[in-house]
Amino acid sequence: MEKTILIIEDEKNIVDILTFNLMREGYRVVSALDGEAGIEAHASENPDLVLLDLMLPKMDGFEVCKHIRRTSATPIIMLTAREEEVDKILGLELGADDYMTKPFSMRELLARVKANIRRREIDIVPVEPKVEKVMNFRGLTIDLNTKSVSKDGKFVEVTHREFELIRFLASNANQVFSREELMKQVWAYEFEFYGDGRTVDVTVRRLREKIETNPAEPDYIRTRRGSGYYFKA
Ligand code: CA
Repeated sequence: MEKTILIIEDEKNIVDILTFNLMREGYRVVSALDGEAGIEAHASENPDLVLLDLMLPKMDGFEVCKHIRRTSATPIIMLTAREEEVDKILGLELGADDYMTKPFSMRELLARVKANIRRREIDIVPVEPKVEKVMNFRGLTIDLNTKSVSKDGKFVEVTHREFELIRFLASNANQVFSREELMKQVWAYEFEFYGDGRTVDVTVRRLREKIETNPAEPDYIRTRRGSGYYFKA
């Protein structure tokens, strides 16, 4: 089925080149030139993915992202020209699934669009997990039925991606995964597009802040220096 991509971006030349390339890949493309129009287009078009620029007239990308997340789980890739905004994009509880910094490679962008749409489809289809549906580790509970995490009986608010990461690591406890492998397994990226791994690091850091008693000396999600991360069973 034809997938619809919504581009919310005020730079007309970027909209044009994105539209051209996405259409060539077989996507239907809708665009909006400011934040408010973007929210309206999202509501009326129900796109399969949103490419969202950060600096927008009327309402910035952060606000638009928050707004969309209130009603929808559509994958959102944020586009930013400012490297220093990356931590903010990933760190804030906006619910953005990914980011790309401008100027970006069109090939990489197309790969990420594809990966995020595929990831979403995998998430929607209920798969029978191989592991126990509720996992317990030293006061930490990961419930696969309700997709929720709690620590010492208290509910921990995690984003979709944070949940997917901890689910994956805990389901494969004690196995060390490199950032590249985690990008592939949790973010569904092709190896060559894993980027600098910062997405993984930031997501791990946020999770630790939420579940670890001392995030500086994590008990659950541990670092194997030079190799990657693992969940200690
Ligand atoms: Ca802009």
